[in-house]
Amino acid sequence: MKNNDCLFCKIIDGSIPSAKVYEDEKMLVFKDIEPKAKVHLLAVAKNHFKSLSEMDDEQSELVKYMLVKIPEIAENNGCENGYRLVINQGGDAGQTVFHLHIHILGGQILDW
Ligand code: 5GP
Ligand code: ZN
Repeated sequence: MKNNDCLFCKIIDGSIPSAKVYEDEKMLVFKDIEPKAKVHLLAVAKNHFKSLSEMDDEQSELVKYMLVKIPEIAENNGCENGYRLVINQGGDAGQTVFHLHIHILGGQILDW
């Protein structure tokens, strides 16, 4: 389901452009516009849901699907030596876009 006010839903439907690196019927991976590492990708499920705290069983299956796909996508995009996955959940973590997304960070040695 799409949310008309959601930035990532607009990226998914193409009304806002993005640098896509992977797409299938369930998920999209694109480059973060303000990269925090040499490689910084965002993986999103095409079905809109806000965050981990709103996730139902069907959505948790989508997160699992993305986690299974991410290793190959990351390795094909400059993260063959490793990468870090981040989900910012809520305000204290700095979540700014309320469409669940997994940050993929790599392409360099990452400080903790
Ligand atoms: P959050 O802070 O919610 O975990 O992550 C949102 C991410 O979306 C940020 O890293 C931010 O740089 C990225 N972002 C915000 N607006 C855009 C945009 O229009 N296009 C792309 N590709 N990334 C965006
Ligand atoms: Zn959305």
